[in-house]
Amino acid sequence: MTDDDKIKVTILPTGTMHADLVWLLIDPGRMANRDNPEKLRDWVELPTHVVYIEHPDGKKLLWDAGVPRDWETRWAPPGFNEVFPVDTVTEDMWLDSRLRQLNLEPGDIDYLVLSHLHLDHAANAQLWANTGTKIIVDEEEKKGALSFDGYSLGAHIKSDYDGLELSTIGEDTEILPGIKLLRTPGHTWGTLSLQVDLADEGTMIFASDSLYRSESYGPPAIAAGIVYDTVSWFKSVEKIRGVAEKTDAKIVFGHDGDQIKELKTGVGNYYT
Ligand SMILES: [Zn+2]
Repeated sequence: MTDDDKIKVTILPTGTMHADLVWLLIDPGRMANRDNPEKLRDWVELPTHVVYIEHPDGKKLLWDAGVPRDWETRWAPPGFNEVFPVDTVTEDMWLDSRLRQLNLEPGDIDYLVLSHLHLDHAANAQLWANTGTKIIVDEEEKKGALSFDGYSLGAHIKSDYDGLELSTIGEDTEILPGIKLLRTPGHTWGTLSLQVDLADEGTMIFASDSLYRSESYGPPAIAAGIVYDTVSWFKSVEKIRGVAEKTDAKIVFGHDGDQIKELKTGVGNYYT
């Protein structure tokens, strides 16, 4: 069996933001306390990534669509350029650069799956307008993300996805043999996680913002500042934990500055 007979997974870093950790981790252990009332904020690295998957049956899938080159202006109306600056990124990391490194046009991708429609996950989705690529989101995410008028609601910027033809799933769905989308709501109306069963590596779960960082997973899980529904978020963490325990999976967190350095990343550095 050669690598071409196996599912190949390539993790592509797409730029690192910085932000106050409280957005992602409400951790009493890191807060000010009686002995340290002057505790400074944790201003931490929040790397972003997309995942490119080649299936032996010839299909290509991309998980998420990265951050935008024009984040400074595009994120200014809701103020997220100040809150989540994309200030650590090299030219080769932007999503359009990544596609060139893969020798791909957007339309060469069969499935673009968006874990959710936040501004740091769906920012380049318009590259896939009218390309024939099937764009997939959770049905609740689509409903929520189109439910408001105006420029943005929280970290959803409507122009990122407005006008695109969004296909939806309403239950856990195996979209290709060995590749499954898991409904893990809570962070937003309909956040998805991606389970890939690999021949050599075993199962990998890409949790996106259903698990921001290893500390979010615990146990015990630690909640975040940017959550639509905290009760659902905790339930989703335990759903992922159940799948991970059953399959002995490696979980890839959405924005973990330590983990991304330990993973194989970049074009040519794939998992099988
Ligand atoms: Zn998010």
